Amino acid sequence: MDLSESSALKPLDRLSRPMRDLRLSVTDRCNFRCSYCMPREVFGPDHAFLPKSEILSFEELTRLSRIFVGLGVEKVRLTGGEPLLRRDLPVLIGQLSSIEGLRDIALTTNGSALVQLAKPLHEAGLRRLTVSLDALDDGIFRAMNDVDFPVNRVLAGIDAAVEAGFAPVKINMVVKRGVNEDQIISMARRFRGPQYILRFIEYMDVGNSNGWRMDDVVSAREIISVLQNEFPVEPVAPNYAGEVARRYRHRDGGEIGIIASVTQPFCRGCTRARVSANGHFYTCLFASKGHDLRALLRSEMSDDDISQSICAIWQGREDRYSELRSAATITQPKAEMSVLGG
Ligand code: SAM
Ligand code: SF4
Ligand code: SF4
Repeated sequence: MDLSESSALKPLDRLSRPMRDLRLSVTDRCNFRCSYCMPREVFGPDHAFLPKSEILSFEELTRLSRIFVGLGVEKVRLTGGEPLLRRDLPVLIGQLSSIEGLRDIALTTNGSALVQLAKPLHEAGLRRLTVSLDALDDGIFRAMNDVDFPVNRVLAGIDAAVEAGFAPVKINMVVKRGVNEDQIISMARRFRGPQYILRFIEYMDVGNSNGWRMDDVVSAREIISVLQNEFPVEPVAPNYAGEVARRYRHRDGGEIGIIASVTQPFCRGCTRARVSANGHFYTCLFASKGHDLRALLRSEMSDDDISQSICAIWQGREDRYSELRSAATITQPKAEMSVLGG
């Protein structure tokens, strides 16, 4: 079967979910040590990151993306670790842009290198950008990134992104109780208006290293009620089936999203495939193990054969972790967020 024939095959998983989005981690390294993701006690100086030889090359990432697009993927999001640490990233964007049928390329970043890279990324064809920012208060932000990185440099990066043509820039804020919940209002105020879409994210039990407790989660309901105190917001219909963020709009314009993966799981509409920097394919953010696609890419296998292997894995998928979350699932082994990229 050649790829054009196999491309007619758009697999559904066991819960009848198609594969629409691919999240590609381009590096497992990061210059931040956010405690909810890469706590420094676990990701310290002795932590063994992947050697270069184990990381997928741009050619491998592009080949793999093309195969995934043949199976139904319409959107690729680059992530990490911190994707902007991957050298020459605009070159990869350029290669991905040439894939026929790929409608959307996006990137999630901590924003630390955007001042230098926003323009080259846009020139290479990137059109959608999400910047993670958990606080406007410099002290809180420095404590949360745990490398003393100043908030002004991320804010300057966001300005550079708007200037480069990325508006509306999405801003992701993970809310953790007792850490940054008092930043909800100031963030909503700062990122109001057509240039931004602020999204609040419930703190999740990804991986096994962040010491997650349900008590630390500030629920979507609480976030909305904090917002309502200051801004009247009203719900907006989803843009498309399976959209993970619940959308709200300020009554006088501007949009806010809430990603309530803990208190309002959305597994039924989950169409996301994830590939780690070393080429392992994960069918869920909370999976313990991936399927090694790098070995296939580095073998003599044809694109069609690799496509069929991916198809078979997707057809066997029955993940719905967030719907099943319980005291027992929280401690089961899971891959780390910095491996999967969110
Ligand atoms: N380094 C980039 C960044 O921070 O945007 C990309 C990778 S990061 C793992 C992707 C997203 O996952 C970020 O928006 C981050 O805030 C979010 N994230 C990490 N750990 C999380 C957790 N435990 N719960 C919820 N979101 C988390
Ligand atoms: Fe790095 Fe992003 Fe994880 Fe923070 S959330 S440690 S910036 S990968
Ligand atoms: Fe998708 Fe797994 Fe998250 Fe459910 S828990 S929405 S299946 S990634």
